[in-house]
Amino acid sequence: MNAFIKKIQTTLNDRGYGPTPHFAKAEFACDCQGAYCNGFPAAMNLGLLLKLEALRNALNAPVIITSGLRCEIRNAEVGGIPGSKHRIGQAADLYAPGIDITRVASIAESLGLTTILYLEQGFVHCEV
Ligand SMILES: [Zn+2]
Ligand SMILES: [Zn+2]
Repeated sequence: MNAFIKKIQTTLNDRGYGPTPHFAKAEFACDCQGAYCNGFPAAMNLGLLLKLEALRNALNAPVIITSGLRCEIRNAEVGGIPGSKHRIGQAADLYAPGIDITRVASIAESLGLTTILYLEQGFVHCEV
């Protein structure tokens, strides 16, 4: 492959994850840091990614993913329930710096996401 094209494709992959120009694939990697998996024990659910992109656009502000995918061992380590949707790419925990987390959650709900608000920890669990 031509080096120039290869560079463009790498850049695209780094910037956008499928149809989500505001999120990079790496933001959803399992945070076991390679201890138990290669970071991607499952594919991220397309519907979830589209809704996260819609949320980001509705807020018109950056959205930070604090937890995306989780392998089985990492999920157990962080106290996730065994059937956690983080294990199958159907959940992400997030917050938007400077924006009230309850507002982030209510907009996420209005976009069709199911949410669990972690007020004290300052993030919202979103799943499809
Ligand atoms: Zn892992
Ligand atoms: Zn979660």
